[in-house]
Amino acid sequence: MQIESKLPDVGVTIFTKMSKMANEYGAINLAQGFPDFPVSPKLIDRVHHYMQQGMNQYAPMPGVPILREAIATKTEHCYGWKPNIDSEITVTCGAIEAINSAVTALIHTGDEVIIMDPAYDAYEPIINLQGAKAIGVPLRQPDYSIDWSAVSEQITEKTRMIMINSPHNPSGATISAHDLEALERITSGTGIMVLSDEVYEHIVFDGEAHQSVLRSEALRARSIVTSSFGKTFHATGWRMGYLIAPSTLMTEIRKVHQYNTFTIHTATQYSIADYLKKPDHYESVAPMYQKKRDFFLKVMDSSRFKPVPSQGTYFQLMDYSAISDKGDVAFSEWMTKEVGVATIPMSVFYQDKQDNKVLRFCFAKNEETLEAAAEKLCEL
Ligand code: GLN
Repeated sequence: MQIESKLPDVGVTIFTKMSKMANEYGAINLAQGFPDFPVSPKLIDRVHHYMQQGMNQYAPMPGVPILREAIATKTEHCYGWKPNIDSEITVTCGAIEAINSAVTALIHTGDEVIIMDPAYDAYEPIINLQGAKAIGVPLRQPDYSIDWSAVSEQITEKTRMIMINSPHNPSGATISAHDLEALERITSGTGIMVLSDEVYEHIVFDGEAHQSVLRSEALRARSIVTSSFGKTFHATGWRMGYLIAPSTLMTEIRKVHQYNTFTIHTATQYSIADYLKKPDHYESVAPMYQKKRDFFLKVMDSSRFKPVPSQGTYFQLMDYSAISDKGDVAFSEWMTKEVGVATIPMSVFYQDKQDNKVLRFCFAKNEETLEAAAEKLCEL
């Protein structure tokens, strides 16, 4: 049968490719971003408890009320503003469903969506599926900060949305309060929406606070914010995310969500609602990952890899130009096969696939895993 691909330039994602390769060659997997340590037994007990209690049928379409209430309380605790639990919060199948449902609901054929370049690999295909165009604005070097005058220059009458992501995957860069002010200024008086992907909101280092767009009254009136319990509670396989948006936008987003995933695993929603009651459960995540980042940097110190400072996420970029002239895709494949450590080549996140000889390492791992990887890497 002859079919016309809707995504002719897309293959399987780099995360799937590198995890498969890591398995095949028995390499330590610092590629795809997922923790190798367990979910809290307390949280698992709660899921089991609610399944035994009979919470096994459809949850309400936007999510169970007690979880939406817990999300609203957490949001107020963190950012000083409480979203409406009926109209402004929806629980989704991971943040990727949130982004997909939001873009599908709100972006039309011919629209332009400004994204940062590099960006998480899913954004552009999701935009393209709507017949819209992703306009990449290069992040500044060497710190991957946002160049707001360059963003401003790309705004046309077709611009419907600006997508930001802080803490940023893949670079680990974070935005500051000044960035929020600039975004507010640029969008003021326009009909431009903001999609702020904040899945690593609880993984910000060095005593800095996460700058959520929800802190700004003007921004939250035009923003869709996505978040992820998979990232916060080390349970990426549970596919539990959510989004916050003003009710006019949320009404449209829920029209897509209800025909997409409809609802998310009921007992898990109840368990997370319980677990969120203790702020320490999400506030202890950043110090835990900061320790891992620092440990990874320490054990890599004698290597010829040059780290790029990571301010958040569980990723660390490393420049390998002192080690090899190979392109980053070839180098990461060679490392997986010959050295036994899998990573993600940074070029895949750029629109033009530019190669700056940088790899992304995931340090959401036990110290033994990081140490074993560093031992191999320090020999290069
Ligand atoms: N977000 C994860 C990463 O950046 C990957 C998720 C996936 O494999 N789809 O590594």
